[in-house]
Amino acid sequence: MRVRWAAATHPGRRRASNEDAFCARPDLGLFVVADGMGGHVAGEIASRLAVDTIERVVASGECCPPDSRNCTLPERRLQEGFERAAQAIGEETARNPRLRGMATTASAVLLSSSASALAHVGDSRVYLWRDGILQQLTHDHSWVAEQVTLGLLSLAEARQHPWRNVVTRALSASDPPMVELSPLHLQGGDRLLVSSDGLHGVITDARIAAVLGAADDPERTCQQLIDDANGAGGPDNITTLILEIDVP
Ligand code: CA
Repeated sequence: MRVRWAAATHPGRRRASNEDAFCARPDLGLFVVADGMGGHVAGEIASRLAVDTIERVVASGECCPPDSRNCTLPERRLQEGFERAAQAIGEETARNPRLRGMATTASAVLLSSSASALAHVGDSRVYLWRDGILQQLTHDHSWVAEQVTLGLLSLAEARQHPWRNVVTRALSASDPPMVELSPLHLQGGDRLLVSSDGLHGVITDARIAAVLGAADDPERTCQQLIDDANGAGGPDNITTLILEIDVP
């Protein structure tokens, strides 16, 4: 598979540190964004540990055993990477009690010419832009998203809600992660965006679609999205990772 990609991260305008982390390994087909939580040092450690562990597991070719879900090999590799990332966070927390409570989101894309896959935990997102239409491929594992599904909050209310940052799933020391896995069927011309909530929490999907549709190169597109988020106040760390599928 041939892809063009770019990634950018920025602390935003109100935070001194950046608890987001990403990895881009086009040689493995692996792209990951993680958004750490737990106070700034702990959050930075959690997201970096998760990204590095997922990268190492995918590079090693290890995968979890097949189960009743009939997952493809790339999905099982990502599942293994996410489980081992949570274990690594647990081990680090046990070694250093000051890090107790640290956790991270993770959204990962693993491309291969036979079967591509997506894995996700938390409220970072993967979007697909195809033929002018933007589709959010991941579900937010967040309290506000659950309230929207139940019909108790509107999307507009969810964006403003004081609990909008509360995630219901994460990679952490406490439980084995409930990983959302799905196959990815890509076409030439598709664009994927992996982002932390410092982007999609402040920029509307309509604006994201317009920027992705402007057919600029991936570097400039990443930078434009970060500029937009900072222009909207930049309340949180912002990470954007863009993949442009040339030949699937
Ligand atoms: Ca965030």
